[in-house]
Amino acid sequence: MLKGKKAVVTGSTSGIGLAIARQLAANGAEVVINGFGDADQIERTRSGIETEFGVRAHYIGADLSNGDATRQFIDEAIKAMGGIHILVNNAGIQHTALIEDFPAERWDAIIALNLSAVFHGSAAALPHMKKQGWGRIVNIASAHGLVASPQKSAYVAAKHAVMGLTKVTALETAGQGITCNAICPGWVRTALVERQIEALAEKNGTDIEAAARELLAEKQPSLEFVTPDQLGQAAVFLCSEAASQMTGAHLSMDGGWTAR
Ligand code: NAD
Repeated sequence: MLKGKKAVVTGSTSGIGLAIARQLAANGAEVVINGFGDADQIERTRSGIETEFGVRAHYIGADLSNGDATRQFIDEAIKAMGGIHILVNNAGIQHTALIEDFPAERWDAIIALNLSAVFHGSAAALPHMKKQGWGRIVNIASAHGLVASPQKSAYVAAKHAVMGLTKVTALETAGQGITCNAICPGWVRTALVERQIEALAEKNGTDIEAAARELLAEKQPSLEFVTPDQLGQAAVFLCSEAASQMTGAHLSMDGGWTAR
């Protein structure tokens, strides 16, 4: 479905980003993966995508919490692949604390990566997409782009802002073969959430699985985690021709979290 398409997925050495990159590759796209981690493991991940799916895969390890580095990263990705059709803005981090206890440095870091990197990445990719008259930007927001939770001020603020940025991007590109949409996952059991499960287990003096069940019960009526692969398949749909008239919208995949 995506043969000949060139895709960049930010924050894709693990979790949701990796699953999205793998699903795009499984559908024929050449991919650039990005993020932190052990160099040998990342190389196994990159070469694994090439052998498993028969596409080219590149790794560019830029730190996207810096605006200039983010724009440079997109330029490098375009150079490596000879173009860009798909940008998945996925990289994100979390920190939990009450507003009065929230370290200013953590606020700045979350806004920089979860929000500003989406702006800088899109700004660098859009001229190329406009020139070729085809593009897909998929922003990985969150249920927290639609509703709030305590102790997540920076994350909720950033994700709500990403929802707004998604709509502006859609309006500025409408009718030019380009779409921009958001995916809003509920709980997905990645490293980002595992840390929150561990903290809950410690706070309640329960085991990890009991804490995972409690985390789900509080927010997610299905009582099941969303899987990274399901999100990857949603991203593939948003990149397809079937979704060419879907823009400025969001797909909630949250087990009913935001239906309450
Ligand atoms: P994760 O921690 O498993 O993966 C995050 C990825 O981002 C990793 O590849 C990491 O190396 C990379 N990264 C971190 N800092 C970076 C930086 N400065 N520059 C470049 N890359 C960096 O997290 P995840 O759960 O897969 O989260 C992916 C996205 O999905 C995030 O935007 C997150 O907010 C969103 N999300 C996650 C959940 C969930 O329940 N896990 C729910 C809703 C939304």
